[in-house]
Amino acid sequence: MVTENTPTDTLNRHLRDLRISVTDRCNLRCTYCMPAEVFGPDYKFLPRSEILDYEELARLARVFAQLGVTKLRITGGEPLLRRNLPDFIAMLTRIPGIDDIALTTNGILLPTLAKPLAEAGLNRVTVSLDSLDDKTFGELNGRGTGVKPVLAGIAAAEKAGLGPVKVNMVVQRGVNDKDILPMAEHFRGSGRILRFIEFMDVGTTNGWRMDKVVPSREIQKLIHERWPLESAEPNYRGEVARRWLYKDGQGEVGFISSVTNTFCGDCTRARLSARGELFTCLFAAEGMDLREPLREGKTDAELIELVSARWKARDDRYSEIRNQNTAGIKKAEMSYLGG
Ligand code: SAM
Ligand code: SF4
Ligand code: SF4
Repeated sequence: MVTENTPTDTLNRHLRDLRISVTDRCNLRCTYCMPAEVFGPDYKFLPRSEILDYEELARLARVFAQLGVTKLRITGGEPLLRRNLPDFIAMLTRIPGIDDIALTTNGILLPTLAKPLAEAGLNRVTVSLDSLDDKTFGELNGRGTGVKPVLAGIAAAEKAGLGPVKVNMVVQRGVNDKDILPMAEHFRGSGRILRFIEFMDVGTTNGWRMDKVVPSREIQKLIHERWPLESAEPNYRGEVARRWLYKDGQGEVGFISSVTNTFCGDCTRARLSARGELFTCLFAAEGMDLREPLREGKTDAELIELVSARWKARDDRYSEIRNQNTAGIKKAEMSYLGG
């Protein structure tokens, strides 16, 4: 909800959503996110003392809520690896002004966690799945993990009342573009909403190249030729995915086109890293440290002032200016700042 406290950035965008990364660790090594060659056995993840505890994260979430944030998304790394996550969700539900708490996960631990998370007050989940083919998926996730545990996770989420589940598929040319139609076929009519995500140049280690991006337009055309689609209105202003409905009533698909059809103009998202830094863009190199002020004993009013001032100075629009003058710039890894 926009209040008199809600800051507006230099491009007239309000602060509305907050993504909270609860860990930088993951049980998978997706090639496009945490390639195993980089995130190997010697990789130094954040030590426990560096990571904000749940009280600290919830306190910051409360600060953001006072600045107009209504939607929270819990992410990582793999958020389900963080111990006692349902306790954290329960803390977030008690924050005045928060009306939606969602979680993005690879789904593997949902069979045990979906029910306690739903009982704690989680509203929805998005599950990432890039292929229905075990070989392709196993190679992509860098751990040889098959598709079955993820599908079991989706089913568990639905059973726990966390549906409709959104399914995120990152498409790369020559890697899993052959899986577009099988994925569409599998999820059409299932009540689950498949969203195709353009492969992004997040971080600096995933070997991104423009020719590996499959533009949403191409995917939409491919599906439309098989199962005709019609465009649908966004659910709310600033919705990242563009929605299309199957004309035969078998549900919808979404497209997140952060490379070919950017949406910086409506970007109301802030990100909080597990270490307590505020990032105002997915492609930012550095965040603003909130952990030290928090641990130094700053009051809520002082923290509100810090965040508000940072947001007011925000001018990020990386996706819009990509390819012009962004080549070679330093960026934080997505698993670190929270996807
Ligand atoms: N581990 C959880 C998961 O995989 O859903 C949450 C964190 S992950 C960083 C969040 C989302 O970012 C996932 O849907 C993932 O597919 C997506 N992602 C990661 N790297 C990406 C990239 N280079 N391009 C596009 N999407 C990416
Ligand atoms: Fe882990 Fe998610 Fe990144 Fe894959 S996309 S490596 S599951 S954080
Ligand atoms: Fe928002 Fe940055 Fe993505 Fe643009 S590039 S939509 S400003 S996170």
